[in-house]
Amino acid sequence: MAGKMLAIGECMVELMQAEGGLLRKGYAGDTFNAAYYARLFMPADWTVAYCSAVGTDTVSDEMLAFMAEKAIDTSAVRRIENRSAGLYMIHLKDGERSFSYWRSHSAAKLLADDAEHLRRAIEASDLILFSGITLAILAPDAVETLLSELRRAKAAGKTVVFDPNIRPRLWDDAERMRRTLTDGARAATLVMPSFDDEMTHFGDASIDATIARYKSLGATNLVVKDGEKGVTLAFGDAPVEHVPATPVERVVDTTSAGDSFNGAFVSRLVAGDKPAQAAALAASVAAGVIGHHGALVAREKLPAA
Ligand code: ADP
Repeated sequence: MAGKMLAIGECMVELMQAEGGLLRKGYAGDTFNAAYYARLFMPADWTVAYCSAVGTDTVSDEMLAFMAEKAIDTSAVRRIENRSAGLYMIHLKDGERSFSYWRSHSAAKLLADDAEHLRRAIEASDLILFSGITLAILAPDAVETLLSELRRAKAAGKTVVFDPNIRPRLWDDAERMRRTLTDGARAATLVMPSFDDEMTHFGDASIDATIARYKSLGATNLVVKDGEKGVTLAFGDAPVEHVPATPVERVVDTTSAGDSFNGAFVSRLVAGDKPAQAAALAASVAAGVIGHHGALVAREKLPAA
């Protein structure tokens, strides 16, 4: 059955060090990466859309053109005058990557300021995906606007997918971070955390503890990612299942491994796969992503669905 997925968050301009001191420009951001991979594995009659805000400048035009080229619907991206897209630069030194960010005035921080716009975009969608980074960039009022629309979506029976994607650097206060991420999970039907982050920031002693904590918040379905150890699925009342990771011969670049897993996983769920089947495909996609450079790996380098 045809449907629509909406990913909500921030896509940034990415500058990567290239030969001879040159910089190569790309576009990436956790929820956008997930949308990109969802589009690759989604049934053809599903639309994948992105909801964000960009400026009215040339780089914002170019970003939207890039999204459209990847078959992502951009009609829910707002244009805001006198703002622009956020930017980050990847530095490579002795094989180690580090990042600099210029995002504190990005247009995307205002993505939830127009509640009507947000409501229309969410109402037109069947599956909505957001993350802890989406929440981290918003002002407290805007977090509340977004979460109340997501709670409405959940109450209306839509699938609401949340990856806590914990980035302490984006939060000025650890207590507010934990509280807001917890509120995010309450608004979701499917939570897809990474166990190492949950252990570090919520003190979970085991994957079972992570599952129990999120279930107690009202998230029916859980996929707990644990890097090369695979994922643990807890869907409704079904028995908990473990799905191994796909072995990777050489880890080249782990950027967007989790995002690609999320995108591929939800696209196969809506196609009717069982959670364990969807997780196996998502693990092989994530393994392919890890084996190549960059956040957005081309379809032909990834496994077939
Ligand atoms: P995140 O990138 O969000 O922190 P993880 O590190 O748990 O999430 O990785 C997401 C997925 O990527 C894992 O569930 C797994 O399928 C895959 N993955 C990550 N690291 C490896 C690895 N070293 N070998 C194989 N697969 C991996």
